[in-house]
Amino acid sequence: MLVVMQAGATTSQIEHVLAAIESLQLTPHPLPGATRMAIGITGNTAAVDSGTIEVLDGVKECIRVTKPFKLASREMHPADTVVPLPTGSIGPGNFTLIAGPCSVENEAMIQQTAEFLLENGVYLLRAGAFKPRTSPYTFQGMGIEGLEIMKRVRARTGIGIVTELMDTENADAVEEAADIIQIGTRNMQNFALLKRVGRARKPVLLKRGMSATLEEWLMAAEYVMAGGNYQVILCERGVRTFSDHSRNTLDLSVIPPCKALSHLPVMVDPSHGTGRRAYVPPMAMASLAAGADGLLLEIHPTPDKAMSDGAQSLDFPAFKKLLDQLRQAASIFGRRL
Ligand code: PEP
Ligand code: MN
Repeated sequence: MLVVMQAGATTSQIEHVLAAIESLQLTPHPLPGATRMAIGITGNTAAVDSGTIEVLDGVKECIRVTKPFKLASREMHPADTVVPLPTGSIGPGNFTLIAGPCSVENEAMIQQTAEFLLENGVYLLRAGAFKPRTSPYTFQGMGIEGLEIMKRVRARTGIGIVTELMDTENADAVEEAADIIQIGTRNMQNFALLKRVGRARKPVLLKRGMSATLEEWLMAAEYVMAGGNYQVILCERGVRTFSDHSRNTLDLSVIPPCKALSHLPVMVDPSHGTGRRAYVPPMAMASLAAGADGLLLEIHPTPDKAMSDGAQSLDFPAFKKLLDQLRQAASIFGRRL
């Protein structure tokens, strides 16, 4: 349910409405807008008579949100969400790039990648310290030491860090190291983890489960938001289909319906979406055209020597070429890059 306050509602009227919602054993979520305050209500609202709230002073109207996802829905929050970061915001008007190796392999390569990205006007570096690998016998990531490396590189260069959290056990350490906490495709429905990052004070990049519907994906975002963390960025990374010409099927067709149903920014990961570096640039360009808010790209100083996902990683010259093409195209789509 959404309570829309009158444009001139006072602070004490708003506080009274928040208290009234809590007294019904429901959770109020204040959603400040440009002209008026709205208050989202989550919990079991089915039995609540909206009339009891509508009569309160300062309330304009009460609207039932029909979708199962509430805080993630456009019904509750018509304006696009902007995720502010020290390095520039993610959301409307911008096309944000996040790039870096699949895994942290050593300090020199993270430092080198950070310097390269900053020289090229890219302010967010991705790299995994905890890696969800299909085989237990392959490189599992550097763990805490990988986080320490990224913290040092951030301190030296100022680059923002995007890194994956795989379990609640390492949540404090990842939250401290990251500017954006990545939740991977395999954990999109790890509800304990979603609840934990719902309490985090860092934005969450929520990858789509490899066989998740749009509704399931938005319900996963809802878990994070229900915990009070409204800074969720969705990321399409390809889904499982019968196709075997690429690692996954990058589902760019999900972007327009996702934008229609939700106000959250949506990024695309064409690296995992295709699995082959030759296919990454065309799908990156297509993501921009489809309305994505940015890209998550795997790049590596020497992709053929990468400890994970080298086949889909661009080398630095290929990334630079793609960046030039994206910059030219971004203005056509009214985006800043
Ligand atoms: C990654 O970003 O390196 C990764 C493991 O991604 P996904 O969860 O999409 O497979
Ligand atoms: Mn990877």
